Amino acid sequence: MNDEQRQRIKILRFQGLGYKQIAKETGLSRDSVRGYCKRNGLDGYGNELFEEYKKTIEREFVNILCLNCGAELEQNKVGRKRKYCSKSCKNEWDNTHRKEYKFICEYCGREFKSLGTSKRKYCDNDCYTRDRFWRKEDAAEVAAKILEFKKVNNLPVWLKELLLSDSES
Ligand SMILES: [Zn+2]
Ligand SMILES: [Zn+2]
Repeated sequence: MNDEQRQRIKILRFQGLGYKQIAKETGLSRDSVRGYCKRNGLDGYGNELFEEYKKTIEREFVNILCLNCGAELEQNKVGRKRKYCSKSCKNEWDNTHRKEYKFICEYCGREFKSLGTSKRKYCDNDCYTRDRFWRKEDAAEVAAKILEFKKVNNLPVWLKELLLSDSES
């Protein structure tokens, strides 16, 4: 095991990866990864380690390693402290650490997950289209249900608007 691998193990543990994944990433055996982690106090839960690491960073106001790839960082004596070795590492980190949010699709009622904070109403583009725009197939489906006196499960917005709108002519 060389220095680079040791550094990589550390950073991957801080990112919450398990021994098996780290072994795969570093080309080491799972046992040697685990052994190294045990000897160096890296055998807790990955997420806890990461929280611990962040606290250390905040306390010491310095990042020793790039949060994303684990490369050693050179800190400037003045100015903002660096957390990433490069812009692309920052982007990669942001992309992989965005929080996942759960939403209920307004059309089909399915629960779906989405990254980032922006609120999403529909699970996919199809649901969006079917909810908002009149389509012959959908209208026929709704009409058939009504004719059979059956419950219409997905009441599209266009239908509500159609039923409740003032007649224009
Ligand atoms: Zn990096
Ligand atoms: Zn949907």
